[in-house]
Amino acid sequence: ALTIGIVGLPNVGKSTLFNALTKNQVLAANYPFATIEPNVGVVNLPDPRLQVLAGIFSSERILPAAVSFVDIAGIVRGASEGEGLGNQFLANIREADAIAQVVRGFADDDVVHVEGAVNPQNDMETINAELQLADLQTLEKAITRYEKEVRGKKLDPAVLEAAKAAQDALQRGELLSGSALDLAPIAELGLLTAKPFIFVFNVDEAVLTDDARKAELAALVAPAQAVFLDAKIESELIDLDPEEAAELLASTGQDESGLDQLARIGFDTLGLQTYLTAGPKEARAWTIGKGWKAPQAAGVIHTDFEKGFIKAEVISFDDLVATGSVAEARSKGKARLEGKDYVMQDGDVVEFRFNV
Ligand code: GDP
Repeated sequence: ALTIGIVGLPNVGKSTLFNALTKNQVLAANYPFATIEPNVGVVNLPDPRLQVLAGIFSSERILPAAVSFVDIAGIVRGASEGEGLGNQFLANIREADAIAQVVRGFADDDVVHVEGAVNPQNDMETINAELQLADLQTLEKAITRYEKEVRGKKLDPAVLEAAKAAQDALQRGELLSGSALDLAPIAELGLLTAKPFIFVFNVDEAVLTDDARKAELAALVAPAQAVFLDAKIESELIDLDPEEAAELLASTGQDESGLDQLARIGFDTLGLQTYLTAGPKEARAWTIGKGWKAPQAAGVIHTDFEKGFIKAEVISFDDLVATGSVAEARSKGKARLEGKDYVMQDGDVVEFRFNV
């Protein structure tokens, strides 16, 4: 499954956000190191198109796409040297496909800031430095091993070269995701700063409604994407019915919850999109990568669909809505039969034809 690891300093609101993410009540305590065990929460990708499809096909249920989040203990300055919980927990995000960095932007004298003051830029630098140090440690160990293996002619020297180039970049203070290096040969190392980042600014209402301040913060992290939310409001939203939730959001100047934004931007950062299937049983979104061709997309439903792929009947969501039914779409020439080289588009409504 595709997973986003949540990192951040202690007391920035990770647990509060994670509670909202999972609708579970994991420990949210007002002291550092409260969250020790990694937790996994699965969040649905909101997709209003599914409701519409379920209406057209009289589907019994709706199955949206999902993104998983792993909650990680807070990172403090010196984590890579064994401060706080040490960095052994960083292993939990090695497997993640992307990293969501939660940054505190809310002011509250009752909530201790581990570094003394609320300063988003400073906090991000602390976290980045710890992730860089963790990567350097990983690389140092790997390079020792790689050197032996290259001497014994058991390893392609290109792997060692890639590791050394990554080490140089980190020592210059770079994040690997921003470098132009080819990291494919050392993908097995799961280097943290090589993963795409999303920045989640946990702010209060004053910032949520302040577009200029949000633009300033977004500029600090560009080209990475920024999500602005109030973790406390998010955890209140999950207990409200949809109408009340919409009202609360509107009162803070938002038209979409932070969690929905996070799922959407997470999806985008991971380079994902969805195609849709629908019938009387279910209306469903399937997760694929951008640029995937029809057979590979069919394989997400079942490997047999990929192996025996013949054709895909594709109607774009908009055409289906405009014509009102598959039969109408066919008679108006809006249903296309696509072959194995067809590149899937987001929102394609598909029925695969295949041999068994
Ligand atoms: P973590 O250590 O990063 O997991 O942080 P927590 O989620 O445990 O939050 C630390 C404290 O900050 C708790 O007392 C939360 O209630 C509080 N908190 C979290 N988010 C917000 C927020 O958006 N506004 C305010 N005022 N307090 C928050």
